[in-house]
Amino acid sequence: MGYMHQAFLGGKGIYACRDCHTHIAQRSSIESRQYTGQYGRAILFTDIVNVRAGQEDKRSMTTGVHIVRDIYCMRCSKYVGWTYVKAFESDQRFKEGKFILERELICDITRDWEVY
Ligand SMILES: [Zn+2]
Repeated sequence: MGYMHQAFLGGKGIYACRDCHTHIAQRSSIESRQYTGQYGRAILFTDIVNVRAGQEDKRSMTTGVHIVRDIYCMRCSKYVGWTYVKAFESDQRFKEGKFILERELICDITRDWEVY
């Protein structure tokens, strides 16, 4: 979080903004695919780049109350997911400081390249 310059990720399995293809996350940073977002399937990442976060917001989710911040592509400002700031249930605290990306709003760069 908070990168001033656009970062480029190396290696295989890079997820990028679906609209502008700015690199956001690596497959190696995936913690879980068992999440659901506003647009369907979502992925929990331990680390991402090239996003900015919005205001803190207290939300009641299926797993309890969380303080979250929506995250947006640094380049095109499109919403891509959210980050967990605080979880109130002790068994949900592992999510604090991690990031959800909505699968519908990101694309798999490596897979796109393999098509050509
Ligand atoms: Zn973008």
